[in-house]
Amino acid sequence: MAEQQLMINGVTKRFGGVVANDDITLAVPQGRIIGLIGPNGSGKTTLFNSIVGYHPVDNGSIRFEGKEISGMRVPEIARLGLLRTFQQTRIYGKMTCVENMQISVPHTHESFRTMFSKYPPEVTEKAESLLEFVGLYAKRHLMAGDLSFGQQKLLEFAMALMNEPKMMLLDEPTAGVNPTLINGLIERLKRTNADLGITLFVIEHNMRAIMNLAEHIYCLAHGQLLTGGPPDEIQKDQKVIDAYLGAQ
Ligand code: ADP
Ligand code: MG
Repeated sequence: MAEQQLMINGVTKRFGGVVANDDITLAVPQGRIIGLIGPNGSGKTTLFNSIVGYHPVDNGSIRFEGKEISGMRVPEIARLGLLRTFQQTRIYGKMTCVENMQISVPHTHESFRTMFSKYPPEVTEKAESLLEFVGLYAKRHLMAGDLSFGQQKLLEFAMALMNEPKMMLLDEPTAGVNPTLINGLIERLKRTNADLGITLFVIEHNMRAIMNLAEHIYCLAHGQLLTGGPPDEIQKDQKVIDAYLGAQ
């Protein structure tokens, strides 16, 4: 079995009386694409928030590459190579794609830089090459706000890649994306995994998309881990079917 790059052990997160995550234990092996599904409100985004240090957990352990990260904050965890993207895009609409990419580089040189200083050529080269990777090279000098929603999501994804993450957590990458563009997006995510060697942990509501993308899928229901398995088993798992039907 491959090394467990991310190991979540007995994680519980409460909001007042709501147990959003209840004793969750799961693993994400290095170099793979792992899915996370479950009805609305089942605790998927909460789990991602806990992993990336957005809020503290009430119980349990989260280890990334063997290191306990459950007490760390977002920037510290990001520096270890664990990054997330959001359900909502976070780009600067009044800046070009390249500029959005440039401001996404790691903050280590921040003190030497002002808004008006020039970026080193290697940063611009990396920005352009990643824009090419996600298929936005021709649009690189357009204002990000003028891109379609699907293109903005690709830009946000490329911005995260500027940081050379080891693992990315993607929260509903296909949400709001034109259905005709979803297959292309899935192919890019697969290439990111295969060509750049980045582990992907993906929340997805689009069943067809996640079944096509992930090698292993975990399913949450009511904050608990219901089951986990390969897509073909998850698809016909009566517990999973019931969880979705019960949620409607
Ligand atoms: P999912 O992403 O699977 O739709 P969430 O993780 O967003 O589910 O939510 C799980 C549960 O936790 C829901 O009942 C939600 O209302 C609750 N919850 C999530 N975030 C908060 C918060 N910041 N404050 C209070 N309750 C929250
Ligand atoms: Mg969510």
